[in-house]
Amino acid sequence: MAKTIRALETEIEAIKRELVSLGDLRPGSLSKQYNVCGNPNCRCKEDPPRKHGPYYQLSFTRKGRSGTQFIKKAHVAIVKKQMKNYSRLRRLVDRWIELSMQLCQRRMEQEMG
Ligand SMILES: [Zn+2]
Repeated sequence: MAKTIRALETEIEAIKRELVSLGDLRPGSLSKQYNVCGNPNCRCKEDPPRKHGPYYQLSFTRKGRSGTQFIKKAHVAIVKKQMKNYSRLRRLVDRWIELSMQLCQRRMEQEMG
């Protein structure tokens, strides 16, 4: 069943309130890396190797350009939270657009009615 204008407006207002309350935003995805070093006697040359790491790397794309950034282990939790905020933002904006398109249509139908 189609939502009423009132229902659409109410849902959009809730989205706006949540958007305002979102914390820091960070786009991208986090990956873990293990490295070997230049020291031939290091544990990373053992069999099986015990490589260095994990090192956390954030990959992201902004305005068509991709970038990467190393993230300290101590910052991984906060970065994950920032990434979660960003994906929440994207979902909320997408939902807002969907509802807004319906709302525009309902208003026009109402004018014609
Ligand atoms: Zn090593």
